[in-house]
Amino acid sequence: MREISIIENNKRKIIKKPELLAPAGSLEKLKFAVLYGADAVFIGGKEFSLRARASNFSLDDIKEAVDFAKDHGSKVYVTTNIIPHNENLENLETYLKGLYEAGVAAIICADPYIVSTARRVVPNLELHLSTQQSITNSKGIEFWLNNGVSRVVLARELTMDEIKDVSDNTEGDLEVFIHGGMCVSYSGRCTLSNNMTDRDANRGGCAHSCRWNYSLYSKSGGNDHLLSDETIPFSMSSKDLMAVNHIPGLIECGVDSLKIEGRMKSIHYIATVVGTYRKLIDDYCENPDDFELTDYYLQEIAKAENRLTAEGFLSGEPSVNEQLYNMRSEQPTQEFIGIVRDYDEETGYVTVEQRNKFIPGEEIEFNAPGMVKYNLIVDKIFDEEFNELDAARHPRQILKLKVPFKLRPYTIVRRKR
Ligand code: SF4
Repeated sequence: MREISIIENNKRKIIKKPELLAPAGSLEKLKFAVLYGADAVFIGGKEFSLRARASNFSLDDIKEAVDFAKDHGSKVYVTTNIIPHNENLENLETYLKGLYEAGVAAIICADPYIVSTARRVVPNLELHLSTQQSITNSKGIEFWLNNGVSRVVLARELTMDEIKDVSDNTEGDLEVFIHGGMCVSYSGRCTLSNNMTDRDANRGGCAHSCRWNYSLYSKSGGNDHLLSDETIPFSMSSKDLMAVNHIPGLIECGVDSLKIEGRMKSIHYIATVVGTYRKLIDDYCENPDDFELTDYYLQEIAKAENRLTAEGFLSGEPSVNEQLYNMRSEQPTQEFIGIVRDYDEETGYVTVEQRNKFIPGEEIEFNAPGMVKYNLIVDKIFDEEFNELDAARHPRQILKLKVPFKLRPYTIVRRKR
């Protein structure tokens, strides 16, 4: 049985705080994930990784990512979780040695051959079993622990009661998805993309065909009847996962890692989602018995979330409420308009790299790591040479704004609505 908490001075204290694990599709995203509170970040290398389009890291990039993460007390895991065919196996040993030498803390793998090869050529490298293996029971975990992995990423298709039961009946480290995209199949075990686009979902090529709009026909009496068309499209995807309401329960289950999905998501998404879960986990662990799960956490995440969300399988078998019909997404309530690159303490001017148009008179919010926030009504906007602008309209343009507070680089700037 896992020891989760102890009593100290008549107060219960969590002693098994789970790791917060975040995604990153680029070095810059990794820096945001780390600075906004991720204990570990998972990235994809150029080889053996799913999400082929997530601007994957070269070995040199991985080394830089590891150094940055280590400097900030964080870790890097690298995904090697494709379901490889014979043609994909070349170079595996060299690649695994390269990852080990780069200092990655673990690799996330799914294929038995990749697991056994890693055990042989890099025996000191930690192995995490990917959710691609769809592990749903403690006996399956035991099998993989006996075969060299130290952590299992549980299938997303488990309820809270099942996670608790698995946690009570296994010794190994457990990782659970708490946020991000869901498959309508068992994660990744789907060939919809292969069929529709000739892109193999399990070798990094998923085209998210489940999210497309389809025309739906019914055949009755020998005739086809169109049931949906472009105005009422049919899609077969599920809402994204959001487990804010289950974080206290997952901590009490004693799971080791809480994972956010989305290596292809934006910097704004990563900073906001990671920052919010960081605060939620810390707030709960600080004072579990008096903790109140207020709307604050949901409202914060909603600022970056642009898809409808639900609780997946955590509350039980998904119903119609966890699925998407006749729609694809929702607009965020606030817009990402820039990133703080620098702040001059002497002049009080902040340097912002623009991401979306904004104008003088708008109310904006600076959201710094640690969920430290400052609001401002934009007065004057200047370009890099201090020419006054009527609007910040060019993507990535360097801008100067006068602010009455101290800011630090990597702070996110949003429009308030
Ligand atoms: S098409 Fe959809 S269900 Fe299939 S693997 Fe891709 S995201 Fe998952």
